Amino acid sequence: MKPMIDNLPKFYDTHLHSCFSFDSEADPEDEIRKAKAIGLTGMCFTDHNDFDYKQPDDSAAFALDFDKYINALTDIRKNHAGDFEILIGLEQGLTMPAAGRIDNYDPEKKLDFIIGSTHVVDSLDPYYPEFWEDHDAYSGVRRYYENIYDCVNAIKNFDVYGHLDYITRYLPKQYKDLSHDELTPLDLVCEILKKLIYDGKGIEINTAGWRKGNHSNPSVLILREYKRLGGEIITTGSDAHCCAHIGDQIKKAHSVLSECGFKYACVFKKRKPEFYNL
Ligand SMILES: [Zn+2]
Ligand SMILES: [Zn+2]
Repeated sequence: MKPMIDNLPKFYDTHLHSCFSFDSEADPEDEIRKAKAIGLTGMCFTDHNDFDYKQPDDSAAFALDFDKYINALTDIRKNHAGDFEILIGLEQGLTMPAAGRIDNYDPEKKLDFIIGSTHVVDSLDPYYPEFWEDHDAYSGVRRYYENIYDCVNAIKNFDVYGHLDYITRYLPKQYKDLSHDELTPLDLVCEILKKLIYDGKGIEINTAGWRKGNHSNPSVLILREYKRLGGEIITTGSDAHCCAHIGDQIKKAHSVLSECGFKYACVFKKRKPEFYNL
């Protein structure tokens, strides 16, 4: 069924972090000012909550104070009511041990949007060298996708999968020359995409990949596969952790999506997708 589409040109950044995330010091008001200055239609804050992301001292680095977060952003949103669209979302770290807690998260449905992301595989972040001690490039990337496959089959409480090929941002240096497309286990990625589509969920195009490497997350290979399988729900996000990156390369993301055959993108409000033309 063809979704209802708004024809006005729109640009949303729906993946961005502020000082409510452990890894950002950005003031939400500064980020809003930046978003307005560059002409975004709207923005969605998606600060981190990761139940299983442990620091070396075993503290939960990305545990969000949910009530404080919602209350603060609701107040900020009120200050801009009628003049700029501000949405309140979350980037939820998906892991199998936390599946139950994730599915019971935000029972009062206060959030507009939940991005489900994999930052931890077998308790380790592929960002750190420890993960790669037990893996070469191929087995590490496959293990990462196996984990995502398990998560999409076990966890329901999210709207889009974040930066689907995140792991390729953090391949150890000795593998940097390997082709991303060759490293991607497309059979497994297809099964993940089919499950997301079947469940009415989507993916995002995350532009941080262009800042940290040479392709968006996910890459064109995966975006085209998602399109081929009938995927329609796709959001756009910068993954900014500072003002400078708010709205970064969202227009380029629109061009890439168009080249991949997509006609529209979407923004989630109260956990429902609204589509707009690219
Ligand atoms: Zn992330
Ligand atoms: Zn993020």
